[in-house]
Amino acid sequence: SLTDKLQNVFKGLRSKGKLSEAEVKAALKEVKMALLEADVSFKVVKQFINSIQEQAVGAEVFGKLDAGQTVIKIVNEELVKLMGSETTEVDLKPGNEITVIMMTGLQGAGKTTTTAKLAAQLKAKKGRKPLLVACDVYRPAAIKQLQINGEKVGVPVFAMGDKHKPVDIAKAAMEHAAKNGMNLVILDTAGRLHIDEAMMDELVEIKDQLDVHQTILVVDAMTGQDAVNVSETFNNKIGIDGVVLTKLDGDTRGGAALSIRAVTGKPILYVGMGEKLSDLEQFYPDRMASRILGMGDIMSLIEKATAEIDEEQAREMTQKLRKAEFDYNDFLAQMQQIKKIGGMGSILSMLPGVGNQLSGVDMDEGEKSMKRVESIILSMTKDERANPGLINPSRKKRIARGAGVDISEVNRLVKQFDQMKKMMKQMPGMAGGKKRGGFGG
Ligand code: GDP
Ligand code: MG
Repeated sequence: SLTDKLQNVFKGLRSKGKLSEAEVKAALKEVKMALLEADVSFKVVKQFINSIQEQAVGAEVFGKLDAGQTVIKIVNEELVKLMGSETTEVDLKPGNEITVIMMTGLQGAGKTTTTAKLAAQLKAKKGRKPLLVACDVYRPAAIKQLQINGEKVGVPVFAMGDKHKPVDIAKAAMEHAAKNGMNLVILDTAGRLHIDEAMMDELVEIKDQLDVHQTILVVDAMTGQDAVNVSETFNNKIGIDGVVLTKLDGDTRGGAALSIRAVTGKPILYVGMGEKLSDLEQFYPDRMASRILGMGDIMSLIEKATAEIDEEQAREMTQKLRKAEFDYNDFLAQMQQIKKIGGMGSILSMLPGVGNQLSGVDMDEGEKSMKRVESIILSMTKDERANPGLINPSRKKRIARGAGVDISEVNRLVKQFDQMKKMMKQMPGMAGGKKRGGFGG
């Protein structure tokens, strides 16, 4: 898989010093493939890779990360920066002033569905009184569809059939809203299969004649490359204020988010996560970055590990291991580090490719056995913990009783501990005192 490919490249990178141009180029070749596979447009990929390259070459490998993680970190941060914005919600006028939102986009993008979703959210979360307006007079079923959706979310729909111009319907709807104390008017406009002058003119006319506060472009995330042309044209011809990316519940990697943001500079506000009218979510650039890279939540893993594992302690541990001084107190401390970063279950679930395979696995088992090991060590005396060699059969019996476990478990732990010590002494990296924090080195 892509993640494996990336990780293979990254594995080859050194873990100290500055990233060389060759290393960065090799890593970015895979990132480039990843972005193209995620349907980010070619033009945007090229720009992105160029800008990343400049930043990454010569970058110092971060203290606790290795070279590969450093590249991922830079790529990820840049993706988040590119897709993020201060604006994370559709802007509404204050108080009881009527806010007019015009929904635009190609046919099938999800305008009518999103119109109802958005109304439901702004009603529930912002206490708005919405009115949905049926401005799609071309498709026979369009008006009916909006009425059904409106009913589902308990929001009234204004319609005048298909004999009037959309701009006139919109104007009439404004009067209706004002008369009935509504303060949010959402216009569901008509799309076409492709960009088309008549459609653009119609939208421009509405914008010219009404006080449209927010023009929202609805784009199907699955359209990939096409999304760029669409958003570029809509933004140039009518001007958009924000974007809703629909159908992200599918298996698309969501490259459209990056393309659209890069090309229009307009914020992505919401994402559609299903056909149900409650399936509208806020847009989170960090989640989208992970999705586009296909890397699970690897960044949160890196960040968590970086934040929680004390470098000084890790260094000390390495020293001890080198001198074979590692004892049960250190073992206990290591276990507590693991617990601090959320236990094995949470570590595993954050690894790419593992997260969604975990459902059938009993993660409690690992945590339970960790607890038992802990209680065995806690049943040892101070002397025994510091001098593992002291632990003879009669002491083992006492420890087992104290921990409430079978003596075989104590035996197993002692054996594992000895093996671990031996193994760690043999690891070539240990003698050099690697800089990475982690379990024993
Ligand atoms: P419009 O032509 O732009 O008004 O698009 P519609 O709102 O009629 O939606 C077209 C189709 O896409 C419908 O079958 C919707 O149920 C579906 N749809 C819209 N948004 C989403 C979404 O976020 N996820 C999924 N799976 N389907 C969606
Ligand atoms: Mg529609």
